[in-house]
Amino acid sequence: MNIQELTQILIDCGIEQNEAKYEIKLLLEHFCKYTELDKACGEKLSEEQFYTLKEKVIIRAETRLPIQYIIGESWFMGEYFKVTPDVLIPRDETEILVRKAIELINNNDFKTVLDIGTGSGCIACSIAKNTAATVLGVDISSDALGVALDNATRLGINNKAVFRKSDLFSNIRDGEKFDMIISNPPYIPIKTTLSPEVMHEPAQALFAEENGLIFYRKIIENTPLYLNKNGYLLFELGINQSAEVKKMMQDNFAEIVVIKDLANIDRVIIGKFIK
Ligand code: GLN
Repeated sequence: MNIQELTQILIDCGIEQNEAKYEIKLLLEHFCKYTELDKACGEKLSEEQFYTLKEKVIIRAETRLPIQYIIGESWFMGEYFKVTPDVLIPRDETEILVRKAIELINNNDFKTVLDIGTGSGCIACSIAKNTAATVLGVDISSDALGVALDNATRLGINNKAVFRKSDLFSNIRDGEKFDMIISNPPYIPIKTTLSPEVMHEPAQALFAEENGLIFYRKIIENTPLYLNKNGYLLFELGINQSAEVKKMMQDNFAEIVVIKDLANIDRVIIGKFIK
């Protein structure tokens, strides 16, 4: 058996060809310490390395566990973040949200940010790393908070990204206010059919009632208590949610802007709190 045949195992289980090749490369690098450079230099894979690769490929094909959970890491905003099945795998689209947040924080000299449903902490840590602000990441899941804390430690930003267990605002103290509230909440309508990979991600991080909108509604309703005047609220959006979320924001927010992703889907919404 050779690497090509292992790639074919992935393709045969339904993984797209380029993705399969990319995953083989990741598995080789991560578990066999065998890089593209080794390959280019004509370095041969040892029998032991091949066996390790084969073992991982079989797990991937049989379980459809996302490759990021198998290697335990995911690339986001120029860093590797630890991920486990307790947290959502950071998505490329979420970088649009984070980049916009960083720009607003730096332009307005914001000091405090609340990240609701922090999961792996990828949003909180990326903001803390790239701005002068301190970020509080909250999540209902203690296991997710453990992963977020590990990520802040890995990045050396424990003093700027801090975490607290809270069901939305339940553990935010009265009078505790922020310059920005950001969230990539669960937004997939219940009963949506998803790929086998996504079904390994925590349901709590994916699905939301009220046709996917419940967390937008709850966060928007509570924002006046916790967001400073002229502060910003930023959300990632699911498909076809921008009009309804915009309507919920209209009363208390000005300068509402929607940003599209590369697939032309309304992906991020921003508003300035003016009341
Ligand atoms: N904030 C995390 C992320 O964007 C987790 C989001 C979630 O679990 N819904 O990846």
